[in-house]
Amino acid sequence: MSDKPQVCAEEDCDRPAAVRLFVPWADDRDVCTAHGRALVQQPGVVAMPLEDGPDEWQ
Ligand SMILES: [Zn+2]
Repeated sequence: MSDKPQVCAEEDCDRPAAVRLFVPWADDRDVCTAHGRALVQQPGVVAMPLEDGPDEWQ
């Protein structure tokens, strides 16, 4: 059972998680749109929208 809203995995951020990041050098993590957009700029990072996340990731 996981009916809690997912929250961004970055420290000091409690926005809802919108994307899952696959990070080659670290664990996968779910982050908000803003953090996803920033982190996906790094080479090798892949972002996948969460099915139940906010519908704002393009
Ligand atoms: Zn965040």
